[in-house]
Amino acid sequence: MDRSGLTVSEIFGPTIQGEGPSAGRRAGFVRLGRCNLACSFCDTPYTWDWTRFDPAQELSRVPAGDLLESVKAMDVPLLVITGGEPLLQQRRLLPLLEAVHRLGIEVEVETAGTIAPNVPDGLVTRWNVSPKLASSGNSLAARYRPKVLEAFQATGRAIFKFVVTGPADLEEIEGIVSLSDLEPIWLMPEGTDATAIVNGMRALAPHVMTRGWHLSPRLHILIWGDRRGV
Ligand code: SF4
Repeated sequence: MDRSGLTVSEIFGPTIQGEGPSAGRRAGFVRLGRCNLACSFCDTPYTWDWTRFDPAQELSRVPAGDLLESVKAMDVPLLVITGGEPLLQQRRLLPLLEAVHRLGIEVEVETAGTIAPNVPDGLVTRWNVSPKLASSGNSLAARYRPKVLEAFQATGRAIFKFVVTGPADLEEIEGIVSLSDLEPIWLMPEGTDATAIVNGMRALAPHVMTRGWHLSPRLHILIWGDRRGV
C-alpha cells in the first residue's frame, strides 16, 4: 500500500451518517484537511481556516495503512470520507479506496463539486455532491463549476445535496439543477442546533414535495448538537 498518506483532520466512528440517502446508517468517518472554498456557514472551519485554527494542531499526515486499520477496528459497513474538500487529495486517496473496497465496505465521498472525480468506477459507492450557493459567501467562479457537476452526474453514482439557508436559495438551486440536468436532488437546512434543523426541515418539506426532490436531516446535530468527532 502507498505509504505517502493523507492529510487528515479527524477519524471517528462507529457513529451514524447524519445526512443524505444513508442518514441513520452505521458508519465510520475520515475527515480530510484543507478546503478550496471558505463558506460562511462552514461547520468544519478547523479543517481549513488558519486565521482561527493552527494547522499544526489540527492536521496530521496519516499513512493509508493506518487509516485502513482504524476503519477495520470500527467494524462498519460504510466509510464516509469528508472534509474539508477530500478531492484535493484525490490521487492519494486511491490506495485507501481500493483497500476498503476489497473489504466490502461501502464508501461515500462528500465534496463541494468543484473538482472532477477521477476514480475507477466502483471504488466510491456514492458521491455526495454539495454545490455551494451565493449564500455561502464564495465567489461564483470558485464555487460553481457546471462541467464538474455534469461529470459527477455522468458517474451514475452521485446525489446533489444543497444546504439551504433561506427561501432565496431555492431559485438559485433550480437554475443549477436545470442547466446541468442534475438528479437526484436533496435539500438540507443549514443550522448547528436542533431547533434550527427542525424548523428548517419544516420550511423545506413543501418545496421538496412539489419539485420531486428529497429532504435530508442532520441527525448528528439533532442527537449530539454541534460537537466534533461524533
Ligand atoms: S466546502 Fe465544505 S468544508 Fe469547505 S468551507 Fe464549504 S462547508 Fe466548509
